[in-house]
Amino acid sequence: MIVTIDGPAGSGKSTAARGLAQRLQFDFLDTGAMYRAVAWQCLQRSIDLHDESAVAACTHAMPLRLEQQHVFVDGCDVTAEVRHPDISRGSSIVASNPAVRRELAARQREFASGRNVVTEGRDQGTAVFPNAECKFYVTANAEERAARRQRELLERHEQTVPLDDILTQIRERDARDKTRVIDPLRAADDAIRVDTSGVTPEAVLDRLESLVRERMARANP
Ligand code: C5P
Repeated sequence: MIVTIDGPAGSGKSTAARGLAQRLQFDFLDTGAMYRAVAWQCLQRSIDLHDESAVAACTHAMPLRLEQQHVFVDGCDVTAEVRHPDISRGSSIVASNPAVRRELAARQREFASGRNVVTEGRDQGTAVFPNAECKFYVTANAEERAARRQRELLERHEQTVPLDDILTQIRERDARDKTRVIDPLRAADDAIRVDTSGVTPEAVLDRLESLVRERMARANP
């Protein structure tokens, strides 16, 4: 069974997706981490993120592995490094590259083949797994998403970034994700919409879990 969770940055989808995979004992696929790894690798090699053919070639050749919620590039654990704000910005630039999207979508399908998976991203329910059995589109208002990202940055990098700066970055990234020509961020027609504004992560997770279990019961009565 495939469960897709799409939504914008800071919507709470990552926490929900990880928790859901754990509760259901499904594998977890963080597709944002794959785009982040591409940006990280390109920056390591001083490749201009707007140079589409150089970024595409780098992606094709990149040995990328996702395992136990860790990201490895060429055997090197880059999980913490890819969360840096420069990589957040870079990842949304490489994500508009059609060849990068094609390559990563193929790797995502390969990862999910023959497994039960909870996968999170921007295009999982619309483009990568259009036949997924259960799809969610998770949102929250931009101010709350910025506040969550600010807390996360403080915890990860012990760095206080002004809320207004984060809000501007989030709006920029949303605009890039929603207006790109190929596979823009949008809810699949058959996705269940979940607004997490003012809702605790635990309550979001409970809701998602009960909706998936309902679907599972209907599929296997
Ligand atoms: O989810 P996360 O913030 O880690 O994703 C980083 C960036 O990767 C997003 O801003 C988006 O541009 C891109 N992305 C994407 N499609 C996905 C997952 C992430 O375009 N399925």
